[in-house]
Amino acid sequence: MSDATPNAAFAPRVFSGIQPSGGLTLGNYLGAMKRFVDMQEDGGYQTIYCMVDLHAITVWQDPAKLTRATRELCAGFIAAGIDPEKSILFNQSQVPEHAQLAWIFNCVARMGWMKRMTQFKDKAGKNAENASLGLFGYPALMAADILVYHATHVPVGEDQKQHLELTRDIAAKFNHDFGVDFFPLTEPVIEGAATRVMSLRDGSKKMSKSDPSDMSRINMTDDADAIASKIRKARTDPEPLPSEAKGLEDRPEARNLVNIYAALADQSVDQVMSEFGGQPFSAFKPALADLAVAKLSPISSEMARLMEDPAQIDAILHRGSERAREIAAPVLRQTYDIVGMVR
Ligand code: ATP
Ligand code: MG
Repeated sequence: MSDATPNAAFAPRVFSGIQPSGGLTLGNYLGAMKRFVDMQEDGGYQTIYCMVDLHAITVWQDPAKLTRATRELCAGFIAAGIDPEKSILFNQSQVPEHAQLAWIFNCVARMGWMKRMTQFKDKAGKNAENASLGLFGYPALMAADILVYHATHVPVGEDQKQHLELTRDIAAKFNHDFGVDFFPLTEPVIEGAATRVMSLRDGSKKMSKSDPSDMSRINMTDDADAIASKIRKARTDPEPLPSEAKGLEDRPEARNLVNIYAALADQSVDQVMSEFGGQPFSAFKPALADLAVAKLSPISSEMARLMEDPAQIDAILHRGSERAREIAAPVLRQTYDIVGMVR
């Protein structure tokens, strides 16, 4: 169902979101946020970025922590280079059209499609019967987040690829069922050297802000000592680094650290290998820690400064939500008309 069709009828528009489900990680920064800034600066798109708080509560969130995490995430967006004038920056729950369109999509998506979603299986774990219905329905809400703006492009990490395919399937089925060309078939944008940053403790698991182990991730707010110690203790193998990217194929932990270096330095993996090939981790890890501190510390100190004025952050989110609704409300109204709702 996911045939590529040109979205010529739709203005180039970017939407993406991050959950306020904990502190921002290096994975979120390299896989998502850095791309968000690139697309904002590209100039060819309208860019819309969202703190997806309705997604965060699909697993239990302490209310006070959710509030703080939402503000801190907004501070992270701005500190990383998102300009709330150039982009629309807001939190999801202030734009009710997301949840309203999600209901329509709950009635379009099929149980069989939803059951194949690997994120649900990963997050629900062994006790799926005890997971929330919201966690199961997550991808339909995500489709609504994107399609309520008729977004044509979504920058995301590799882990969200399957959800983007489902979004296209939902758009295509809606268009087909109602005989319209109303929703675009949105393109994922998965680019860069670190589209899937792995856990520092387990090279087969992605780095996540909700991982119970803080040692598994680098948080955007970690200080230089914490970053250096986490990288020093990161799992690796005993071999020195190879001199070509090919030599990393069966070495997931080594590959992860090299990918992180390449992404932070804006270099290719081969460039990194030509510099560090043949060297032991005892030489590479301190260089990586220095680079990470140099790139992250200006962002984290700016985040801390912005967090001193929560009222200012709330005002930015509120203004962003008003701008978002100017786009979302007419799309929802037209959707209701297509479906046949009386108004
Ligand atoms: P949670 O553990 O609560 O799901 P998360 O760290 O996975 O949190 P999300 O809010 O789910 O973060 O995802 C925000 C964005 O960050 C998405 O575009 C996702 O693809 C990207 N992302 C998340 N983790 C990584 C990672 N390890 N590497 C690259 N991109 C990532
Ligand atoms: Mg996630």
